[in-house]
Amino acid sequence: ISPADSLVHALRRAVAETPGSDFLAYFDGRLTYRDVDELSDSVAGHLAARGLRRGDRVAVLLQNSPHFVLALLGAWKAGAVVVPVNPMYKSGEVAHVLRDGEVAALICSDRAWESYLRETASDSPVRIVLTGCELDFQSRGDARVLTFERLPQAPDTDDLVTVARAGHKAPEDRDPGPSDIALISYTSGTSGTPKGATNTHGNIMYNAERQRTGLGLPKRPVYFGLAPLFHITGMVCQFGACLTSGGTLVLAYRFEAGVVLDAFAEHRPHYTVGPSTAFMALAAHPSVTRDHFSSFRVISSGGAPLPPALVEKFRAGFGPYIRNGYGLTECTAPCASVPPGLEAPVDPVSGTLAVGLPGPDTVVRIVDDAGAEVPFGEQGEIVVSGPQVVPGYWRRPDATAATFPGGELRTGDIGFMDEQGWLYVVDRKKDMINASGFKVWPREVEDVLYTHPAVREAAVVGVPDGYRGETVKAYISLRPDADTDPDALAAYCKERLAAYKYPRQVEILPDLPKTASGKILRRELRSRTQGN
Ligand code: ATP
Repeated sequence: ISPADSLVHALRRAVAETPGSDFLAYFDGRLTYRDVDELSDSVAGHLAARGLRRGDRVAVLLQNSPHFVLALLGAWKAGAVVVPVNPMYKSGEVAHVLRDGEVAALICSDRAWESYLRETASDSPVRIVLTGCELDFQSRGDARVLTFERLPQAPDTDDLVTVARAGHKAPEDRDPGPSDIALISYTSGTSGTPKGATNTHGNIMYNAERQRTGLGLPKRPVYFGLAPLFHITGMVCQFGACLTSGGTLVLAYRFEAGVVLDAFAEHRPHYTVGPSTAFMALAAHPSVTRDHFSSFRVISSGGAPLPPALVEKFRAGFGPYIRNGYGLTECTAPCASVPPGLEAPVDPVSGTLAVGLPGPDTVVRIVDDAGAEVPFGEQGEIVVSGPQVVPGYWRRPDATAATFPGGELRTGDIGFMDEQGWLYVVDRKKDMINASGFKVWPREVEDVLYTHPAVREAAVVGVPDGYRGETVKAYISLRPDADTDPDALAAYCKERLAAYKYPRQVEILPDLPKTASGKILRRELRSRTQGN
């Protein structure tokens, strides 16, 4: 068995090499590599004894916690496919995933089970349920985040922690191979009904290895888990990269800027990756100092646009350079990123920051509507092929054929490439605004808004307009000490953008709506305008 086959093999290798070193840190609790191996063996043994077969689906609906990791590794050791489910999903969305994924086992928090999942799962193929309180591995209650107590054990479920501590043996001969499906990842839904991308163990191993090599991290690095584990970026760039390097992963139950900054001070992490909105929130927190970031060797941003102004503000204020990276669930997180030691150029014409260079064995092409490659510098759709591109969508041959013609991923993103091979993402094809026949890409307007000192978050959408067809509207949230108003912000853009691009309407909100992985939801802002 090669250690590169799957993260299960990577765990076994780490246990053989450094059984007693810390794998997970969670509040004051710690679990070593040996602990995680034994506890997840027991979860696997239990699932198999309950009748789970190789290839069956196990849904994991948990926040970042050791429970998530035990559920994930336990299910993989039992030969299962894991379906990570966003804990912010509403009942109808979970029901869709349980049915669409034909899920046999569900692992969730006891609170979620009691409040809505028991009812949701009653009309689904789920026949095995493990529940637990995600906070019971910590030994110190932090009143700001830990507001709930452990519930009494539900009679219709097994307790995850009891099962993990029961000392069951993992079933033999169920270890996954590189072409087996590891995850069915339902896209987080910024564009319609979730479809399940089938990430194989090979897809994950390729990107996890790529995300750890060359970063200049110390031997057993400390990773900070800023991104949620149920999202592919957290799963691969944090969890996978940490496990394959034998490092320690610090988990925070969920993102709350003050708690995260305290944890930085306590655990002194070397690396983290998150969406740009997380870095905006950290940079705007009243108690943030340069010291909070002094242990970091590298910081990466992925999964959402990174405004160049944020990179500069961050470097000037706190030191680290934020590396950009571009990817989709369908290519198992990144397909292009900024190589360590380099800095991404900014396109002089549009002011867009490059997302990176394609990884080795990865081919990124820019094509026109007819599928023909366009010259350097010209815009077109980004298409990707490489070892991280998934084989397709779960049981959706039509969607698979449309999105992966000839095995190549059509991303739905518009971008261009310069002569050095740097990739630039302009925007999502479907988010283009058509103002009197002029194309406006929201990102370009947002990048200008981010250079304004009062702006914390910005999102630009097209809204219906009787005269122009569509007009540009900006939604803004402000920094705590900001002093500005919508007219001043519109005037600021007017000075810096062509007449058809600047926002005719600006609305200030306390916060912008986001997906659980931290991306600003333009779709929700658009429907808000249409509903008005
Ligand atoms: P959907 O459900 O609409 O498919 P999602 O946001 O739920 O989308 P993801 O796979 O998480 O699904 O997001 C991938 C998208 O995020 C990319 O297609 C791209 O639009 C955007 N994105 C990712 N990284 C970057 C980046 N560095 N710069 C700009 N955009 C990015």
